[in-house]
Amino acid sequence: MADNKKNSAADEAAKKALETARKTASKKATKGESSRITQEEFLAATKKNAMPYRIVAIILWLLAIGFEVMAILMFTLKVQFSFTVENPGWTISWLVCLGLDLILVVIGSLLWKKGNHLDPGSKKNKVGFWLRNNFGVIMAALAFIPFIIFALTDKKASKQSKIIAVIAAAAALLIGVLFGIDWNPVSQEEVLASAGIDNVCWTDSGTVYHGYRDCRYIKDKPDTDVNTGNSADSGKTRMCKICEDHAEEVIAAGDADKTDVTEADKTNDDLVIETLADTEAEPDTAA
Ligand SMILES: [Zn+2]
Repeated sequence: MADNKKNSAADEAAKKALETARKTASKKATKGESSRITQEEFLAATKKNAMPYRIVAIILWLLAIGFEVMAILMFTLKVQFSFTVENPGWTISWLVCLGLDLILVVIGSLLWKKGNHLDPGSKKNKVGFWLRNNFGVIMAALAFIPFIIFALTDKKASKQSKIIAVIAAAAALLIGVLFGIDWNPVSQEEVLASAGIDNVCWTDSGTVYHGYRDCRYIKDKPDTDVNTGNSADSGKTRMCKICEDHAEEVIAAGDADKTDVTEADKTNDDLVIETLADTEAEPDTAA
């Protein structure tokens, strides 16, 4: 069952990215170029689709931290209003701040995970993959642990108030962590497989793989020196910066309704598919 869920998430991400990338591809087609979507264009599309979710998630998390700060200020009497001077008002004031903190943390995590499902990380980097998928856990910790520390070390509050504060914040932390974990993470490899797009080329001596056969690092290499296949087969952990930037340009241009991208664009479409050869190391990695 978990597998089905996972596959449907990968399929959905693949479908959305293809829709985005296709807008660009159809423009290429009207120019008489191949309309095939390259892996780099596809990955740039996944990134673009995920961006709004990530931005809103980060804004909500920052607001959550703001409410935590407010809760701390209320609890420690640094900030007081007329209705917080007496007891039910005082307790309610920081409990409400903690509640808002929790709501924002949870919504932020849901959006963050949605962004990851649209633009998943590669499984090749295990630590990076875990951090990216479960970043909400870290945010939940930041949103409640400082409050717990302030509540425990406060000199003025009664023992009873401290107990209420710590229990409430610990419960909120637990809920935040549970929502922060991605129980069914999707990987970039799965989305690429769903989309049927994973064509790259590389040379044995190179440190990166390329999305475009006419990339300047490999265009002069003979086909016999250039391998093609999916990125996992290449044994390289990342793609060449030039190819990556180029793909993003292509996507961005498609979105802005412009068809002119770069000179390279005209030649690149078929490279990935029909040809094969790329060679060499990027300047930054060769050094
Ligand atoms: Zn390249």
